[in-house]
Amino acid sequence: MNSLTPVRPTPLAVLGHFLARHSRLIQAVQWLMVVIYLVLVTLPAFLPVPDDSRHIWDDLVLFAQFAFWGVWWPFVMVSMVVMGRAWCGLFCPEGPMTEWVSRHGLGRAIPAWLRWKGWPFVAFVCTTVYGQMITVYEYPKAALLILGVSTVMALGIGLVYGRGKRVWCRYLCPASGVFSLLSRLAPVHFRVDAEAWKAAPRTHAVDCATLVDVRAMTGGGSCHNCGRCSGHRGAVELAPRLPGSEIAALPAREVSAWDIVLLLFGVMGVASGAFQWSASPVFIALKQGLAKILVEHDVLFPMTGTLPWWLLTNSDETGEVFTLLDGFCILAYMGGAALLFGAIGLAGLGLSARVLGRPELLWRLGYALVPAGAAGLIVGLSAMTLTQLTAEGVFLAWVPDARAGVLAAGLAWSALLLWRSLPAVSLGRRLAAWPLGLAGAFAQIGMWGVFFFVW
Ligand code: SF4
Repeated sequence: MNSLTPVRPTPLAVLGHFLARHSRLIQAVQWLMVVIYLVLVTLPAFLPVPDDSRHIWDDLVLFAQFAFWGVWWPFVMVSMVVMGRAWCGLFCPEGPMTEWVSRHGLGRAIPAWLRWKGWPFVAFVCTTVYGQMITVYEYPKAALLILGVSTVMALGIGLVYGRGKRVWCRYLCPASGVFSLLSRLAPVHFRVDAEAWKAAPRTHAVDCATLVDVRAMTGGGSCHNCGRCSGHRGAVELAPRLPGSEIAALPAREVSAWDIVLLLFGVMGVASGAFQWSASPVFIALKQGLAKILVEHDVLFPMTGTLPWWLLTNSDETGEVFTLLDGFCILAYMGGAALLFGAIGLAGLGLSARVLGRPELLWRLGYALVPAGAAGLIVGLSAMTLTQLTAEGVFLAWVPDARAGVLAAGLAWSALLLWRSLPAVSLGRRLAAWPLGLAGAFAQIGMWGVFFFVW
């Protein structure tokens, strides 16, 4: 008997094996999600924009808005931290679509350019920026454009590459990089017992649609928790672990500079800028300052010029229009946030690694900042939920305390993870390197504190 086959499997292991045995049930759930997704993303785009008398419960446009941006997006982020990438493996509608198409497609080998590790960063930044330019959270046509393009690309990639695989999900999905980072914090994962694997008799290969090398899997970053490999060779099972322990013990082969670039410049920078620009006094000052300069130089077209709705917000129905100056300021704000928070985080990590006398640890230490980034994402996304609820007359008095709690917890968790990630050098060096490495987390949490409690 190996160490992964106890007399009585734990409830988590039983759950994992249940997933492995009931693939048809999971497929049914996934295809139901596909239908719901297609209805909610397509139909509202052909309905009139609702007026103030309509509500989430009596208008499909408002319901779809709330479902996508008020419930789905924030809760998917939270689910990554709580359950790993189970959303990807069990519920995401794009996964089964791209996998199904891939079963009947050209089945070509995955080229090297597609495996480039920078795609998740590029895709995340492009999607976030474009979403802000066309106000994806407000307008159903904008949502159909962004989500629709993503779905069509998922189908196209499935049609050409891989055989029954989720090549899109693994390498190109705009959310995959962020999901991968957050899922490393999760208290559950599919654990592989290398000894038991080796000792077990040869059998068929695991059909991992996400292209994970199950035998060598040590973490949850790429695993979609679909459960298909649960029980394989008596060596794989769903198991608990200390939250964040994967990051504290991350092996060098799992470390990618692109992960940290995504975290610092993408999540803490671009995404924070996207959440905050519309309520930021800095944005207003930037816009007014530029407008003044333009008027002084008699250059007026940036304040009157507009673009089609699919390039820059321009709604006939609501009258909301972004001018070229608006568009420029939004881009400048998000770009500035990316440079500011990315530079602070990177400089802090670089200095920390130098103080430790181990400059090569720069990227490795960066993973400890994931909880601070996750806290920023969660409070940022939940702000949208609250705006929608407030519009429906729902006021939640405990929200400021909850926000402060999430931000404080994110900072404390990052501090703890960074301390556990420091190498075994002298205590003095570790004490000096610790706050330096946390600079990015301090900046991120501090900025959210200013946004919610000062502005
Ligand atoms: S390793 Fe692959 S097959 Fe196993 S649970 Fe993860 S995604 Fe599914």
